[in-house]
Amino acid sequence: MVFKREFMKRTYKISLFLITFLLLAPFLLYAGQHKVIRIVDGDTIVVNYKGKNEKVRLLCVNTPESVHPDKKQNIPMGKIASNYAKKRFKGKYVDLEFEGPKRGKYGRLLAYVFVDEINFNLELVEQGLSPYYTKYGLSQQYGKEFREAEQYARNHKLNIWGDPGLTQKYLRLKSKWGQYRSNVSSSPATVQTKEWQYVASKNSKVFHRPSCKWVKKIKPGNLIGFSSRAEAVKSGRRPCKSCKP
Ligand SMILES: [Zn+2]
Repeated sequence: MVFKREFMKRTYKISLFLITFLLLAPFLLYAGQHKVIRIVDGDTIVVNYKGKNEKVRLLCVNTPESVHPDKKQNIPMGKIASNYAKKRFKGKYVDLEFEGPKRGKYGRLLAYVFVDEINFNLELVEQGLSPYYTKYGLSQQYGKEFREAEQYARNHKLNIWGDPGLTQKYLRLKSKWGQYRSNVSSSPATVQTKEWQYVASKNSKVFHRPSCKWVKKIKPGNLIGFSSRAEAVKSGRRPCKSCKP
């Protein structure tokens, strides 16, 4: 009897331990890899990446300025975006997802940042704290999600989209960045860029990743695509020195 009670007690303890572990496991397993060190502003953070503190510029977003050296550029919406990021990243570990070149011209990492497994870049756009920023090319992996997130924020007049002055400003900017985008969507010949792994101008001996800055300069009518690298090479083209496909 005594033995049995002791046994039950121990079984109970072990089960309690197991249940606790199982409940916590998802959090332990899914914590991001890189510790957030500080927030520069809404679209730039510092994380510990492979033992070094590194600046990460978030892909496909551009929040209003809050710490620009030219103080005239800093606006209250910039502060709102920056505070939003601070709250979201406080004490967090994040994951980074790269697309195309891992670093920009200032040496910063360019990435999608996942916090609690949520794509924070998309979250900023969905909250109306940034437009879908296409100045340096479309998102290869989340284009549809970014468009939907921005549509949502605009429909609900969130943050930027609730301020007529900022809305005007960003719509004007978007029409400039849009060159790439509107060319792509207005020409049936280029609609499928997204399915192409590599692209080229039919008049050129070089092939690119679809995100390459040079692709924007190719006339939509001249744009051709390849579904594999081998196919691009077979066409007699060499890889671009800039996007290194
Ligand atoms: Zn290129």
